[in-house]
Amino acid sequence: MGQGKKMNMQTGFRLQGIGKSYGKVQVLSGISCTITPGSGWGILGNSGSGKSTLLRLLAGLEIPDKGTIFLNGSPVSADGKIMLAPVNRKISMVFQDLALWPNLSVKENVLLCMGKKPEAEERAMNSLSICGIAALKSKYPGELSGGEQQRLALARALATRPEFLFLDEPFNGLDIEIKNNIIKKIKMLATENHITPVLVSHDPMEVLALCSEVIVLQQGTIAESGKINRLLEDPVSDVLKAFREADKLIRNAFCSR
Ligand code: ADP
Ligand code: MG
Repeated sequence: MGQGKKMNMQTGFRLQGIGKSYGKVQVLSGISCTITPGSGWGILGNSGSGKSTLLRLLAGLEIPDKGTIFLNGSPVSADGKIMLAPVNRKISMVFQDLALWPNLSVKENVLLCMGKKPEAEERAMNSLSICGIAALKSKYPGELSGGEQQRLALARALATRPEFLFLDEPFNGLDIEIKNNIIKKIKMLATENHITPVLVSHDPMEVLALCSEVIVLQQGTIAESGKINRLLEDPVSDVLKAFREADKLIRNAFCSR
């Protein structure tokens, strides 16, 4: 019982004093937080605040110069070293630049990530339907519109049923109707399959729609973190303050009609 409780307390990611520089530029410093399995997490901040770098550190695609990243209680990267490769972290990722394979068809792009599981074919098609692009299965990425390419990257990440689904600004530029639809479907699929979405975004609206917890970055440090609903009651970060302000402007505009 004690053991079970202890294990529960250690599930997911824990970051302790993480720092990361590129050359002389300090991109992240003093980052300590947890990202536990459950409802979604947002990593919110303005452009250049270090969001993508933080996600890549969690994924194991970057190595911290300082501090330790734990996954399920064990160190996976620390002080310039990596102990657990990205492929073994039970995550999948939608990259900001999508990283699709141009020489593979839509369906092959999804299938290649899934190994030789018997259910691969069905799951690939299911993911493509969720993202509304099943009819494009035989096309190549170069033949798709920007929005369709984004949906393919999302379908590919969903298909592997990861424990953590890392999403780096996956909705940028999508029409609002498509975006709302995909957010609803990701939420449903995440709940049904115990997948925890981790959404990097500069848009509090998206984070509010998909996540219950948020880590707000400002110039490479955590400005505030916690339940997004609660933080919005009295925000301290520039981005959440601005969101509150926008919300007031919209309400006033509606009331004055
Ligand atoms: P965000 O995703 O919040 O826009 P990033 O994590 O991409 O921010 O980048 C944070 C800062 O780190 C930026 O100033 C960016 O120019 C810099 N940076 C990111 N990746 C690299 C890299 N590979 N080499 C040098 N600088 C980088
Ligand atoms: Mg980014």
